Parts: sequence; C-alpha cells; structure tokens
Amino acid sequence: MDRQQEYVLRTIEERDIRFVRLWFTDVLGALKSVAVAPAELESAFSEGIGFDGSAIEGFTRVYEADMIVRPDASTFQTLAWRGDNQGTARMFCDILMPDGSPAASDSRHVLKRALDSAADAGFTFYTHPEIEFYLFKEPYVAGQPPVPLDQAGYFDHVARGDGHDFRRAAITMLEQMGISVEFSHHEGGPGQNEIDLRYADALSTADNIMTFRTVVREVALRHQAYASFMPKPLAGQPGSGMHTHVSLFEGDTNAFHEPGAPYQLSQTGRRFIAGLLVHAREISAVTNQWVNSYKRIWGGAEAPAHVCWGHNNRSALVRVPMYKPGKGQSSRVEIRSLDSACNPYLAFALLVAAGLKGIQEGYDLPPEAEDDVWALTDNERRAMGIAELPQSLSEAIAAMEESELVAETLGESVFDFFLRNKKQEWGDYRAQVTPFELDRYLERL
Ligand code: GLN
Ligand code: MG
Ligand code: MG
Ligand code: MG
Repeated sequence: MDRQQEYVLRTIEERDIRFVRLWFTDVLGALKSVAVAPAELESAFSEGIGFDGSAIEGFTRVYEADMIVRPDASTFQTLAWRGDNQGTARMFCDILMPDGSPAASDSRHVLKRALDSAADAGFTFYTHPEIEFYLFKEPYVAGQPPVPLDQAGYFDHVARGDGHDFRRAAITMLEQMGISVEFSHHEGGPGQNEIDLRYADALSTADNIMTFRTVVREVALRHQAYASFMPKPLAGQPGSGMHTHVSLFEGDTNAFHEPGAPYQLSQTGRRFIAGLLVHAREISAVTNQWVNSYKRIWGGAEAPAHVCWGHNNRSALVRVPMYKPGKGQSSRVEIRSLDSACNPYLAFALLVAAGLKGIQEGYDLPPEAEDDVWALTDNERRAMGIAELPQSLSEAIAAMEESELVAETLGESVFDFFLRNKKQEWGDYRAQVTPFELDRYLERL
C-alpha cells in the first residue's frame, strides 16, 4: 500500500466513515457508484473489486462481462451532503480487465492516455470549465414544459432569490469537497445558473465536473427544485453550455503566452487553436453528444454554430479572452461548443488531441473572425472559409465516422460503441412524430 492509500484507511477510521462509494463514469458520461464497507478497501486497493460490466453503457460485450474497479486513493473525499456523523466517502476508480490491464472502455483511461501523449510532447493540459444549468420547480410533469425556479436574467441579483441561496449552498458544499469555485452568477435564461470551477489539470477537472453534477443535483433537491444539465431544455431560451478554458504548460511556463505577440498568444497557442478548428466537426458528436445538443448549437443565444475563432467575439467557436497585463501565466483559449451534458473525460481527451495535432503538424491559424458571424450571409461566410458545425447529431456522427483523430484518441472499442449508440439514438429520434409536426401539418395537409 502506498502513502495515499494508508491515509485513506486512517481517515476512514478516524472519521468513523461507514460507507465508501466507488465512482466511475460510463461512456456516455453517467456517474456509476458501488458502495463498499471500509473493511473491503485494502483488497480494493490491491486487487480491485469485481463487477458485472455488461450492465453498464459502453463497458463490455457480454462475453467479457467480468470487470474490476480499483479506487484511486488520491481522489478520496467525504460526501458533504451525507453529514459528518457516520459519514460516507467516495473515490474515483479506474476500470480494469480481469488480467489487470486497463479496460479500453474506461473513459477516465481514455483521458489519461491522451494526457500521457501530451506529456510525451512536454505539456500538461489544464482546463477550467464554466458550467451552465437550469433549476426547475419540482416536480417535472411529463408532457408539460418545465417551470423555471425564477424569472431572472443575466447577472441579475434576485432579492431573497432561491437561486442565490441555492448557489451559496452549492458552492459551500463544493468547497467542502475540495473543489474551488471561481465565479457564479445567474445566467441568461429564467432559472439558469452558471458556476465556474478554478482551473486544474484536466483529469482533476473532469473528476470535479462529475462531482459537481452530483452536488448540484443534491443541493437543488433541498431547494424544492431539480437541476438539469440538458443542453437546450426551453425553446427560445439560451441553452446550457460548458465553455472550457484551456492552456498547456511546459513545466511552470504557460506555453500559450508570448509577450508582444498578437493577443500575447504564442505560436504554440495559435497552432493549438488551428487544431481545434480543423477537427471541430469530427469531435462534435462527443462534445455535443445528444440529439438535443444541436438545438442549442443552432439556437443562437451566444452558442457557437460556425467554425471560427476571435478575440472578444462571442459568436466564435474559439475565443481568446482579454489578456490581463502581468498575467502571462493565465493566457488561455476558450472553447465554446461543449455543452454541460457531455462526458468530460472523452471531450477533454479530444480537445487536447486536436490541439496537439495542430502543434505537431504545424497547422496555420486562419484569420480571426471580427464580426458577429451570425450577421454574415452564407456567401460571406463561405468566402471567408468559415465552415459550420454539424446541424444535427446525424451530421456529427457522419463527421466522426471519418475521423482518424477521434478513432485513435478514443480507441477502437469506445469509438465503435459510441457510433453504434449514437446511431441508435438518432434512429429513435427520427422515428418520432412530434407535436411540431402535428400542429403544423395535421389539419393543413
Ligand atoms: N448559454 C450560452 C451557451 O449556450 C453561453 C452564454 C454565455 O456565457 N455567454 O453557450
Ligand atoms: Mg461565463
Ligand atoms: Mg455563461
Ligand atoms: Mg465563457
């Protein structure tokens, strides 16, 4: 046992923790949990704990159903919402095959592998997500539009507002679990909120996002509300994005920073952006993985639909935020396509892979888009070489299917599972006759 594992066992004893939840994430980004008694932990650390992988989306084919979860002691945390008395703790886990090798279908492993490639090139990948979501009144009644918790808008301060109390409670709980929050505010839609996590290495951030979703749901339930990370829950209102700020560090130095360069952005940073743009369409099925995701992308309200970059341009897919003098280490780029319902492990793996490809192949960055790209005509955009993001999950699947970068980064089994699953989702959606069609056609046609 290493020191971290010993620390976990000691803490469990000192704090009288009765249950330890072992957490892992399926290919579509759903959090899974199995609780073990503390007495099992020593063997969980050494050999792992067996489970039937066939029950979990994307994990395995039936004939290789035996799989193993092994907790990562560095992720040990007590669950703040369970209270101190005879508490509950959790650790994120790696998924292994019975022979101890990493399971190809473990998305945490997919990200680790992508981060190892970055490390081979001398880089550490940092991410900082801005997570948007809606709060709706409990309960949801099927067939009725969800009812937002308030009617406020962007940065509104709602007096005695439920959203206020909610954010204070959620942030307190996140901080208790070791997750630092940088900003939080009411977002543009009624009942919509945003909470921004402090930057950290991409694996920690992905783990933190999974914890974040759980904490936010738990806290919402205590405020007679439920939280939804659905990309576009209300037609005509903004969707919920997960803008992600990224940077690469070489040791202690931010590799995106170059004093005196335009926007203080280094060649490495420019090539990273170029990689994101070249591969943007191929990675969309992962960064925006649901049928509903494309209703956000094409629904305006500051969601990006076109493949371009800009400075303070909020219609761009990639934005280089304002440089703060003297803050070279904070140079970064913001990717605005991701939505709050993506699998953060797979999405971050593809972001770093696309950016690295741009660096390694020396892609040139096209000129920046200075205008609101929504205000240009199709012809103007075409003349400027600005492509569109996929219009639907179906188009995104087609782009992903052709992508060597995505196949390589996800690995064959996640790539195949993902495509199969998404084609099924698209097929299920296509088979529906919607209220839109009935209202529009039934009596007229
Ligand atoms: N909600 C918008 C989106 O879907 C973003 C709004 C903002 O933060 N400027 O991406
Ligand atoms: Mg923001
Ligand atoms: Mg926002
Ligand atoms: Mg933003």
